[in-house]
Amino acid sequence: MTSTDQQPFLSVKDLKVHFSTEDGIVKAVDGLSFDLAKGRTLGIVGESGSGKSVTNLTILGLHNREHTTINGEILLDGKELLTARERELERLRGNKMSMIFQDALASLSPFHTVGTQIGEVYSKHTGASKKEARARAVEMLRRVGIPQPDVRVDDYPHQFSGGMRQRAMIAMALVCDPELLIADEPTTALDVTVQAQIMDLLKDLQQEFGTAIIFITHDLGVIADIADDVLVMYGGRCVERGSKREVLGAPQHPYTLGLLSSMPSLDGAVDVPLTPIPGSPPSLLNPPTGCRFHPRCAFADKVAGGRCSSERPLLELVDGRGSACHLTLEQRADLFAGSRHH
Ligand code: SF4
Repeated sequence: MTSTDQQPFLSVKDLKVHFSTEDGIVKAVDGLSFDLAKGRTLGIVGESGSGKSVTNLTILGLHNREHTTINGEILLDGKELLTARERELERLRGNKMSMIFQDALASLSPFHTVGTQIGEVYSKHTGASKKEARARAVEMLRRVGIPQPDVRVDDYPHQFSGGMRQRAMIAMALVCDPELLIADEPTTALDVTVQAQIMDLLKDLQQEFGTAIIFITHDLGVIADIADDVLVMYGGRCVERGSKREVLGAPQHPYTLGLLSSMPSLDGAVDVPLTPIPGSPPSLLNPPTGCRFHPRCAFADKVAGGRCSSERPLLELVDGRGSACHLTLEQRADLFAGSRHH
C-alpha cells in the first residue's frame, strides 16, 4: 500500500509499551496515537521519562524485547511493524526508516573509517560493490557539508570534530534515502552554531527527499525552528497535539503552558522571569491517578469534583488539534491569559 492523503505514511495507534521490573510494571508508553505524513516534521516534546524515546525505539524495533509487553499498532506505509519479523525490520531500518542519536561517537565505531561505515550500510541494503559504496559515502559526506569529502572519507571518527561526526552520522542515516527519519535530541551536545547548521541541513534534505521526520527534544526552541506539528508527551501519554503555531502560540494544556513558561522567550524577549514547573516527572511504576499531571498542575483545583485526581482526561482531537485536560476551553482562555507564554 502506498501512502496517500487518506493513508498517513506512519500511523501509531494506541501504542502501549510496558516493562516488567522487579518492582512492578513500568508503563513507559501508555496509549499513544499519532499520524505522520511524508515531507512533514513532527516534534515530540517532553521531559526525560515521558516516553518519547521509548516510542521511537519501538517504531524502529530497537527496544529491549525482554520483559516488554507491547500493544497497539504501528503502520509504516501500510505495513504493520509490531508483528514484523526481525529480518524484515532490519531490512526496513536503513532502507525505509533510520535514526540519528544525540551521541555520534556511540554510533560510530572508532576502528573503522567514516567512509567504510557509511559505505557498509549502503552495500548491506543495496548490494553495491566496495567501489560504489565508497563513491556513495563521498557523495553523502559532500551533501552533509563535510569539506574535502574525497579525502575526509578515509578519516577515523576521532579525526572529526563533534559537529562533523554528527554530520557523518546523519550521512550514514540518510545513505539509503530513508522515507522516515527519527532524530533523538541530535543537536543537544553541539554548540549553537553547529546546531543551527545541522537543523538547516535536515530541512534541506527533507525538501530534497520528502522525508518524514520525527524530531524528539525537550527544547521548545528547537521545535519552534524545525517542526510542522507538535506532540507533547507527559507520563507516557500525549497531552497536547496540534500544529507548531497552535501549540506554541496558544497552548491548551497546563503542562505545555508550563514548558513554555520555563524556557527563555522564543522571540528573545527577556522582560519576564522564567517559572519552572514545580515538582518532578511522574513515576511510571506507580503513576498518579486521573490526570498524571495533577500533582504539579496549578489549575487542578479549578475543576469541580476532584476529577483531576480521579478521572483520566481523554485526548480529543479535531482536525489534529486538541489536548487532554478537564478544563473547558473557556476556562483555559481565562486562566492562561494571566500566565506567560510566547
Ligand atoms: Fe491540570 Fe486537571 Fe487539566 Fe490535568 S486535567 S492538566 S490536573 S486541570
